[in-house]
Amino acid sequence: MSEEVVRETMDVDVLIVGGGAAGLSTALHLQNLIARHNEGVASGAVKGEAIPDQMIVVIEKASEIGAHSLSGAVLNPIALRELLPNYKEDGCPIECEVTYDAAYFLAQNSKVKFPVTPPPFQNEGNYLISLAKFNRWLGKKCEERGINIFPGFAAVEALYDGNKVVGVRTGDKGFDKHGNRKGNFEPGMLLKSKITVFAEGTRGSLFQKVAAKLGLTEGKNPDVYELGVKEIIQCPAGTVTPGRVIHTLGFPMKKGVGGTFIYTLPNDQIILGMVGYLDTTDPLFDPHRLLQQLKTHPFIYDMIKGGKVVAYGGKSLPAGGWYSMPKLYHDGCMVVGDSASMVDVKKLKGIHLGMKAGMLAAETALEAIKAGDFSAAKLSAYETKVNASYVKKDLWATRNFHQTISKGMYVSAPFLALQEITGGRGILGGEMPIEHKDYETTEAVLDAWGPRPWEEDENKLPKPDGVLFFDKLSSVYLTGTMHDEDSPNHLLVANTSVCRDVCHEKYQSPCNHFCPANVYEMVPDSEIPGKKRLQVNYTNCIHCKTCDIKCPFDNIDWTTPEGGGGPQYKET
Ligand code: SF4
Repeated sequence: MSEEVVRETMDVDVLIVGGGAAGLSTALHLQNLIARHNEGVASGAVKGEAIPDQMIVVIEKASEIGAHSLSGAVLNPIALRELLPNYKEDGCPIECEVTYDAAYFLAQNSKVKFPVTPPPFQNEGNYLISLAKFNRWLGKKCEERGINIFPGFAAVEALYDGNKVVGVRTGDKGFDKHGNRKGNFEPGMLLKSKITVFAEGTRGSLFQKVAAKLGLTEGKNPDVYELGVKEIIQCPAGTVTPGRVIHTLGFPMKKGVGGTFIYTLPNDQIILGMVGYLDTTDPLFDPHRLLQQLKTHPFIYDMIKGGKVVAYGGKSLPAGGWYSMPKLYHDGCMVVGDSASMVDVKKLKGIHLGMKAGMLAAETALEAIKAGDFSAAKLSAYETKVNASYVKKDLWATRNFHQTISKGMYVSAPFLALQEITGGRGILGGEMPIEHKDYETTEAVLDAWGPRPWEEDENKLPKPDGVLFFDKLSSVYLTGTMHDEDSPNHLLVANTSVCRDVCHEKYQSPCNHFCPANVYEMVPDSEIPGKKRLQVNYTNCIHCKTCDIKCPFDNIDWTTPEGGGGPQYKET
């Protein structure tokens, strides 16, 4: 590792870090705006000079665009219509329009339908999409417009000139698990850019460092998150009516705040998901397990019986909203989408906000390119545009949602209803602080569950059958996750003796539970009889980032693995 590395440098005009919907919308809109400007100049309708060809580059850590995009989402098409007005003729992969929505409360074996679907769960007119398919399609649109997309490249370090961001370094490839160079060693590149747009998705590992260095989160609420897992179930032919969106509360969650979602797709597919807030006090919070339990409920089982789970995935999503949003620009850079906490957590929707923010960043970049000025003063127009758009409108209406609901699902209900009526203002109106980071809220297992043996619950878990019910490891297989077995562990545990001597006893090792991919396991310690040690099966990691967020000792650092690794979500 200490041998000198010679790196290639590539100069680009606009660099976008992350090939999800937000990053791709940034690239595509910028290219379209440049073309429109140049056409206007050529026809005399626009004053000024034509803009020469710009090198716009999108780098993506997944092996291909869409491979890290977890399938099955409800899309509010507002930003898509603005970005590509002819999206239907252009072959946008929309599964179907939502024609029915409903919400239920589930008790152990029964259900009660809400007389009226609560407004956040109303989705009629929105589209059901496979995000993996949608992003692949957006990626193709970008390539058709001459945008350079480099999949398999992870950005690991920002490049600075003083405090100005001037690009990124991509990760080296070809180290063995001990950190020695292998025969296929390939040094990362220096991508020098005039503007860098961070669009890394939830808890962007590079943007986290950039924000800390540049003070972009000073004075903001801390980031907080939810963790969601979902499965795609292929049901028998003719048994599924497409276009339905159903949400449920109650069973099987016993602690914390969360719920489920059910989307029905054409081709008799059902997407079944479970989502929970990561500020839960429950040290045993395990969404994969809850999802398996959910399928035993008669209401759910009746929908999926005879079916087979064909895909699985998990991801965290930002839940802090408006007051957790970082400063959106600095000298040489902007941030868009999930990395900037742009998720309407009440509705569980962020794709349209990320796309719109990307388009506004593109409009700002166009003006910066015309002026040859990439300073913070010039790029501050992006934040002004966000504030004048429906990105702010949506996030403002839910500005105190997380702070309220995290007090408890049922205690908070009247306050949430009041916020709904008053456009988010509630009783007091002002900003409510988020008092804890997610990792600070976990209770000791005895405090959370009492002295009764919590293992009792294990007996109530459905037996894995590899058809409808799965253990975690078998579910990971369905994600297609791949990391080179002989590559460095990207999950850095600072102090493993804390895991062995304190965490296991006090908390029953929460990482063994919350990780949706069976990465962390306490196994007998061969060196200390009677003790267990932490084993990290890092090649299973599906990049949900939860361990970076929720370890009660803040003991785990999720770093970017070699580009190309991780889940391979298909266009199922
Ligand atoms: Fe998620 Fe961490 Fe598990 Fe990877 S190791 S799947 S990032 S919790």
